[in-house]
Amino acid sequence: MSIPQSPFAALMDIAPRPPVVFADGQGSWLYDTQGKRYLDLVQGWAVTCLGHSPAPVVKALTEQAARLINCSPAYHNEQAVKLAQALTRASGLDQAFFANSGAEANEGAIKLARKWGEKHRGGAYEIVTTVNGFHGRTLATMSASGKPAWKTLFEPKVPGFPKVPLGDIAAVEGAITDRTVAVMLEPIQGEAGVIPAGIEYLKALRELTEKRGILLILDEIQTGMGRTGSLFAFEQAGIRPDVMTLGKGLGGGVPLAALLARREVCCFEYGDQGGTFNGNPLMCAVGSAVLAEITAPGFLDRVQAAGARLWKGLETLAVRHGYGAVRGQGLLLALDLKKPVGPAIVEQALADGLLLNAPRPDTLRFMPALTISDTEIAQAMTMLDGVCGKVGG
Ligand SMILES: *Cc1c(COP(=O)(O)O)cnc(C)c1O
Repeated sequence: MSIPQSPFAALMDIAPRPPVVFADGQGSWLYDTQGKRYLDLVQGWAVTCLGHSPAPVVKALTEQAARLINCSPAYHNEQAVKLAQALTRASGLDQAFFANSGAEANEGAIKLARKWGEKHRGGAYEIVTTVNGFHGRTLATMSASGKPAWKTLFEPKVPGFPKVPLGDIAAVEGAITDRTVAVMLEPIQGEAGVIPAGIEYLKALRELTEKRGILLILDEIQTGMGRTGSLFAFEQAGIRPDVMTLGKGLGGGVPLAALLARREVCCFEYGDQGGTFNGNPLMCAVGSAVLAEITAPGFLDRVQAAGARLWKGLETLAVRHGYGAVRGQGLLLALDLKKPVGPAIVEQALADGLLLNAPRPDTLRFMPALTISDTEIAQAMTMLDGVCGKVGG
């Protein structure tokens, strides 16, 4: 007699996943194959920014799929042109290159900076990045990331990414040499547990990089597209980077990312950069639909109001259960639990029909749909209160 195989046996086991299988989603709700519903405050890691299967994304996908799906990056297509125009106009940057994942966009940013260094800074190639920063899972972006657990993984690393602690401007100054071409960071470190770089630090970095003639690269893959209450997080610091990457929310759930840069920095030559699926009309049509929603009058005001409401709810919860502070911006928030009860809370919440993420054992991260309703926020807080009561401290 043979032992029945797990239905998951054909999938590479790359993360500890609960034995739940999701089949449907609508707005802030997911449904598993048993029909049980879950209030989703993870949203694919801040990816499905308009919620699950939102009408504008479904419409863009179905309409564009019937017209043109892919015509090769060897030719221009209507949708890539349209999205590049809209994103450059919205960001104040001049040119865009589209990619299929955040890591790929960051890989492009690294290549662009190195090319610029080769042309304009005597072959400089080092990019100063931050301790605990996260930029993706390709070899170069893992090397650029400052995740302590990755330090000895997949050796040898791609060289050229000296790390500094986030928030320490003197450390950045000390790390800049003739070999330095750029400073690269997230405006709010997401995977590290929602750690804001801080407005003063971002301003100081902008000033410093300008003075030293090097590039400022902002990884807005998690913070961009309205997540922090403004279209891009850099706007809140009153600065503009030389290079920015977008991903996650840009596609509202479909694989779409972008590398944007100032004209003077855009120095790729033919053959330097490309990709089979890059800038395909199907994904770009979705990107335009998502951007139109987020920039519609009142949308970002709603995100700010929802963020404030969630913040208040979490503060109330923290007082009731003896947790610590709330941090973050807009609808990218974290709650300091002060104890390593995060995984237990996430597990109990799943059982109770609430999807949460604990990026660190002592931290819960909240990245709901930007369209989450007041009622759903209240529902989430009630459910979480119950979960915390069950888990205890
Ligand atoms: C998710 C993320 C990435 C990587 O994006 P992928 O699409 O998973 O490759 C890079 N940087 C930041 C800040 C992210 O949050």
